[in-house]
Amino acid sequence: CGIVGVLGNHEAAPILVEALKRLEYRGYDSAGIATVNHGTLDRRRAVGKLVNLSDLLVHEPLRGKSGIGHTRWATHGAPTVSNAHPHQAGPVAVVHNGIIENFRDLRAELAQHGVSFTTQTDTETVALLTQYHMEQGNDPVTAANLTLDRLQGAFALAFLFSGHDDLMIAARKGSPLAIGHGNGEMFVGSDAIALAPLTDRITYLEEGDRAVLTRTSLEIRDANGALANRAIRTIQIDS
Ligand code: GLU
Repeated sequence: CGIVGVLGNHEAAPILVEALKRLEYRGYDSAGIATVNHGTLDRRRAVGKLVNLSDLLVHEPLRGKSGIGHTRWATHGAPTVSNAHPHQAGPVAVVHNGIIENFRDLRAELAQHGVSFTTQTDTETVALLTQYHMEQGNDPVTAANLTLDRLQGAFALAFLFSGHDDLMIAARKGSPLAIGHGNGEMFVGSDAIALAPLTDRITYLEEGDRAVLTRTSLEIRDANGALANRAIRTIQIDS
């Protein structure tokens, strides 16, 4: 339902939770964040209000300056901790808005490769398929692209990878996604409102766009795989 992401220069966890709070108005049943800290990918998730997630983070802190966060409105699988996002499969964590319509076919394919599932969600398939592509020897960007090539439905996605503190991938197909430009920082939000305290310089992804982010770079390719030049707008939202 709500997606946020940060490649920053400060501890990401409180920034992600704060950004998710700005998306609370959309409604949600659970929430979670994942960070990469000196290469180590980890996550925390909680059912119910964001305060449950922030309580959990006090008891079980998550360090790292790169992270993704999500508020979930369940479409596939009950609102439980294990179904909450981010979904992690080995070296990849994913947050997702929308529905992967062909996830049952993809699950069947992965099952043939011996991959097993731990959730009822469509989203887990995205993480597992990307992990599979990485195990085949592909780098994170190639693996995510191979996965995105296979997905049907309406979705927005953000990917984070272990061993990569300065990399995020974002994709938009039928569900909005905005990139925020900071000073040596880069942000992602399903709504620019989430990013208002962080930056007012926003690039809106267009339909079918895929973006590769680092703290200092943003490369966007359009639905045909061609490099795309998307404007940076200065927006005005009360923070
Ligand atoms: N289809 C996904 C799920 O049920 C994402 C739902 C959402 O947009 O929050 O987990």
